Amino acid sequence: MSDRELKFMQQALDLARQGMNNGIGGPFGCIIVKGDTIVGRGCNSVSSTNDPTAHAEVVAIRDACKNLQTFQLTDCEIYTSCEPCPMCMGAIYWARPKKVYFGASRHDAAAAGFDDSLIYKELTASLHDRIIEMVCLGSEKANEVFSEWKEKPDKIDY
Ligand SMILES: [Zn+2]
Repeated sequence: MSDRELKFMQQALDLARQGMNNGIGGPFGCIIVKGDTIVGRGCNSVSSTNDPTAHAEVVAIRDACKNLQTFQLTDCEIYTSCEPCPMCMGAIYWARPKKVYFGASRHDAAAAGFDDSLIYKELTASLHDRIIEMVCLGSEKANEVFSEWKEKPDKIDY
């Protein structure tokens, strides 16, 4: 680990601690770095904003994208206090940063009461074996929207 990596991870940990101590949410923090500049910050804000998606990584991605005026975090690095959960993994892959550094593992998080192993299991379970019922109501009409997208001349690909 370089001094640079340690310095940025410490900032993510500071955000985790501040968020927790200020009643913003759970003990998770995240920063996003481009070059040597922090371009996004976030701490878990689930309980204070009534937003189950307000995990530190999602909050930081939104902040970075707003600050950089882009929906892609190309060339950015993510420092997060804990291994990202499946939702944040998805958000990170959509944002396409070049690297992710994390502190605690998902097993450490589970031991602290934040167990996302259920979601990992659900990701590979078949539709009818999932805890939350998922029903396909037919794709024909929905596919018409995709056709319109494919034909849309002024679309912004991502
Ligand atoms: Zn998450």
